[in-house]
Amino acid sequence: MGKTDTRTLVAETVEKVDENVILKGWIDSIRDHGKITFIDLRDRSGIVQCVGQDLPSVTSESVVEIQGKVSKRPEGLINKNIKTGTVEIQVGKLEVITKAQELPLPISSDGYSIDENIRNKWRYLDLRRTRMNTNMKVRSKVANFMRNWLNDRDFVEIETPILTKTTPEGARDFLVPSRLQPGNFYALPQSPQQYKQLLMVAGIERYYQFARCFRDEDPRADRAYGEFTQLDIEMSFVTQEDILQMAEILFTELVKKIFPEKKISKSPWPRLSHREAMEKYRSDKPDLRKNKNDKDELAFAWVLDFPLFTEQSEEDYFHGSGVAKFAPSHHMFTAPHPDDIELLEKDPMKVRGLQHDLVLNGYEVGGGSIRIHQPEVQSKVFDLIGFTKDQKKQFSHMLNAFTYGVPPHGGIAPGLDRFLMAILGEPSVREVMAFPTSASGQTAVLDAPSKATESQLKELAIKVAADEE
Ligand code: ASP
Repeated sequence: MGKTDTRTLVAETVEKVDENVILKGWIDSIRDHGKITFIDLRDRSGIVQCVGQDLPSVTSESVVEIQGKVSKRPEGLINKNIKTGTVEIQVGKLEVITKAQELPLPISSDGYSIDENIRNKWRYLDLRRTRMNTNMKVRSKVANFMRNWLNDRDFVEIETPILTKTTPEGARDFLVPSRLQPGNFYALPQSPQQYKQLLMVAGIERYYQFARCFRDEDPRADRAYGEFTQLDIEMSFVTQEDILQMAEILFTELVKKIFPEKKISKSPWPRLSHREAMEKYRSDKPDLRKNKNDKDELAFAWVLDFPLFTEQSEEDYFHGSGVAKFAPSHHMFTAPHPDDIELLEKDPMKVRGLQHDLVLNGYEVGGGSIRIHQPEVQSKVFDLIGFTKDQKKQFSHMLNAFTYGVPPHGGIAPGLDRFLMAILGEPSVREVMAFPTSASGQTAVLDAPSKATESQLKELAIKVAADEE
C-alpha cells in the first residue's frame, strides 16, 4: 500500500495541518448549509469536522471514506469541546462505503431515559453512544491493569470449566443437558470456587482468572440476571491479613493509574466487624463516603468477622435435608475463626468465619475468605448444613483432595461489573456490560432463551412439560 492509501485516525489530524489525509468512519452529524455541508466524522479516536461543497447525499451513521486536506481553523472558530477543535478537513472526495438507514434509537444522548428493552435489542447501536463506548474502554483498561499487576507478582492465569458440576454460592444453578449421558446434566459454575481450591492442592500457589459466574437469581440494579464477571483470586500459605493487603494495594494503585481524578477517602481502608457495621450502619455494606454527592470520592472498607452461619431458610437453595438449620454466610468452604472451633460443636451460630467483604461506596464489590483445609472440619461443616450422605458425596472430591497434602489457602473475588458500576457512578451493572441480559432475562440482540427444536430435544431425551399443556 502506498503512503497516500494509509488511513489517518481522526485524532491524528491535529498533527497533520496542510497534509492530505484519508479518514474512515461514521457520519456523526450533518449540517447542510445549502452549497456548503458540514459533517462530523467519528472513528474510534474521536470526532472531526469536515467541510465540503456539492457533496453526495449521505445519511447519518453511514460509513464513509473522506479524502481531504487538514486545515487550521481561524482563532475565533476553534471548538474547545472536541480534541480536534483546532482543525477541520476540507473534503476533496467523499465515498459512501455503506449507507445507514435511520437508527431505531437516538445515540447522541447519554441514553439513560431510553427503554432498556429497546437499548438491548439494538445494543450494537447503543454501544456507539459516547458514554457506553467509553465504559467499554475503561473496562478493558481496568482488566488489563489487574492482569498485569497480578502477572508481575507471580500469579498464574488459569481457565476452569464452564460445563461442570454444581459449585454452590447460594443461588440456583443453570443446568445443561448431556447428550452423551441422556438424563444427566452439567451445571454452569456459580463461581470457580472448588476448582481454584483444587488448583492450590495442585501446587499453583497463586491463581487468578477473569471468571464468568452463572447464577439463576432475580436481577437487581447491582446484579445482572444470569452471568457476571469476577476477578477470581486464590493464594496458598497466606493469612487473611495478606489477602486484605494484597487487594488494598491492587485497588489503590489501580485507582491512581486509571482514575487519577478520584480520591480514596481513607487509607488504610477502614475495617469493621460485621456486628459493628450492622449496629452502626444497619448494613453489612455501609456507604462510608463523607459527602455522598461527591462523584470523585471512593470509600473503600472491609467488613470482617461475619458469623460463619446464618439461620437456614426455606428459600436457601442448597439446604441440607437433615435436621440441621445452618446455612453458610459466605459459602461452605469458609474457615471458622480458629478461636471459635470449639463452638462448632456447642453453639454453631456463635462461630465467626474468616470471611472478608470488600465494600465500595455502599456496594459489596467483592468477597472471599480463608478456606477450610482440614477434611474433618469440612466434613463437620457439611453436617451442620445438614447434608445427607448423598449430598456429601457431591463434594467428596474436595475431601479426597485434601488428604493428599493441601496447603492452607484463601482468596477473594472482586466483581468486575460491580466495581466498574460503583467507580463510574453508573445506576446499573448493565451499563458496564457489552451485551447484558435484560431485567426479564432476555439476552441482548440474540433474543434467548428460545425454544429448542424437536430433534434437539429428542437427542437429549428431553420432553418439555410446558409444551404438553
Ligand atoms: N467464590 C466466592 C464468590 O464467588 C469468592 C471467594 O470466596 O473467593 O463470592
